[in-house]
Amino acid sequence: MLPLLRHLPTTTGLLLGAALLFAKRPPHPRGQALLAQAAAEQEAAEQEARARLAPIPTPTLLHCAAGEFDDDGTCLPMPTEPDLDEGTDAPAFQNGHHEKSGKWSLYEQIPRLPERPADYDAYVYPIPAGMPNGHYVVSGYDLHLDDAHQRRGRNLSHVGHGGLDIPQVKGMPIKMVPMEHQEGDAIVVFTGKYFGTTVITLHTVREAGMLREYLLFFGHLDGPAPGLKLGTPIPEGGIVGFVGDTGSPELVHLHYEVRRMRAHHDDLLDSVRKIGAGYLADDAISIICDPRNVIPLRNKDR
Ligand SMILES: [Zn+2]
Repeated sequence: MLPLLRHLPTTTGLLLGAALLFAKRPPHPRGQALLAQAAAEQEAAEQEARARLAPIPTPTLLHCAAGEFDDDGTCLPMPTEPDLDEGTDAPAFQNGHHEKSGKWSLYEQIPRLPERPADYDAYVYPIPAGMPNGHYVVSGYDLHLDDAHQRRGRNLSHVGHGGLDIPQVKGMPIKMVPMEHQEGDAIVVFTGKYFGTTVITLHTVREAGMLREYLLFFGHLDGPAPGLKLGTPIPEGGIVGFVGDTGSPELVHLHYEVRRMRAHHDDLLDSVRKIGAGYLADDAISIICDPRNVIPLRNKDR
């Protein structure tokens, strides 16, 4: 028994060796082809599953909103450059002066922006120059100055001057000059007595990314253009009226004044019909403004 027992492991080893030999035997060529096919099918199925799971990369950046850009999957705001040609927000300041009665009066006013030229002759006006050497303005805006340096005259009812006085001959047609950054036509919002015979127009102006409304006063007219009514649009070059001396008998000239509306009023024309031009010039409704902030420059390179 012992020798048999001693050989048993050898017999078992032989049997195992034979089994392994059988297992390692290369498969039949047909079996090999079937195995390759199965492997290829498995690989294809796995690829399909991976494709179903993975998001399909989009070549366009449709998931970012307008004004944003895709920075490696994160939507970030597009860098913006300031629009230097859109107009600057001109701040209002408080100032004061002694009225003729001696009463101290405080008011708000919008002074000329530092980047706007001080030289009145650098701007475009609705009438030709009427002074020697092509000069336009005989008396300018002074409501930003201190009390002592504001305009006072024996025959002047007001202290200080919120407009520009442009001398010309009587009857000279006044042709509309749109404001800088104006949108649409100017609209007539008043005709009647204010600075003598006066026409007032409303202008919508794009300023520092918003829309603002400005008023333009044409004073001391010989008369308004025929047919001018409240709500009438006046395009560029359209006739506003004619230069005169109404309310200013000593000098034939155009009083050209700008005010900025504090807010938009849907019922503006109704209020003007009820109250008159005083409604538009009320400090609660509009602020007096140096015209040089909004009237166009003759030559932008100047
Ligand atoms: Zn004036």
